[in-house]
Amino acid sequence: MKKSKMLCITALTLFFSFSCDQAESQTIINPLQEQNTMSVLWFQKAGEARALFYQGYNIGRMRLDDILSKKQWKQGLKPAIVLDLDETVIDNSPLFAKKIMSPPTAYLNWGTWVERSAAEALPGAIDFLKYADSKGVAIYYISNRKEALKAATIRNLQNIGAPQADAAHVLLKQKGERGKEARRMQVAKTHDIVLLFGDNLGDFSGFEGLSVTQRAQMADKQRYEFGRKLIVFPNPMYGDWEGAIYQYDSRRSDLEKAKLRKDNLEPFQP
Ligand SMILES: [Mg+2]
Repeated sequence: MKKSKMLCITALTLFFSFSCDQAESQTIINPLQEQNTMSVLWFQKAGEARALFYQGYNIGRMRLDDILSKKQWKQGLKPAIVLDLDETVIDNSPLFAKKIMSPPTAYLNWGTWVERSAAEALPGAIDFLKYADSKGVAIYYISNRKEALKAATIRNLQNIGAPQADAAHVLLKQKGERGKEARRMQVAKTHDIVLLFGDNLGDFSGFEGLSVTQRAQMADKQRYEFGRKLIVFPNPMYGDWEGAIYQYDSRRSDLEKAKLRKDNLEPFQP
């Protein structure tokens, strides 16, 4: 055999064995989690994701300036802003990235992740919160994290420099509570909530437990509030938008979930 032909065969063999190794190392560990690859990738790597967080917090700052300069809050009450935490102020995407890369038996449990208090802030969040704090506005963090995770949550907020991060301003989910409305009402007894920030429509009033269609209809109904009183951030990784696809039934198998995902797509008709 000619020397050049032998070299060529050796190169091809090396190429194919390299390709096989690559494929092996990228075996799909969990098909349902695998579907989250693009969402997590977008959240972590898209400049557009960063830009949307800056956009949301910039709008928040402009609205706050306007409200404060025109004294547009119920006099007799104190002005307050309410923010969700996860994927609004705090970035948990490393946990979701890890889920894609790990077998289900090796998942890092949500509680263990939260106890680390190591999540980073999302773009624009801390600058905005410090600005609101400097203007004397009360800040309430209303999150559906469990009460047992309160100390770790406050520690994480303090680590990233979030102002007013204390037990009185961090309101977590109580036993038996479904949504956030009761905690918003509690704040509203002493404050006028002038702005709300969240990545989930459940962070605002009127969206709890709605079906996919009802959520869309309610978003249409409240259309003029977005960017005015309600500031929404993007979260393609998870949320009630996904829960609604499964009719909020968390017992569904991965196969059922995968089927419902496909069933809810709207392809063009031939
Ligand atoms: Mg959230």
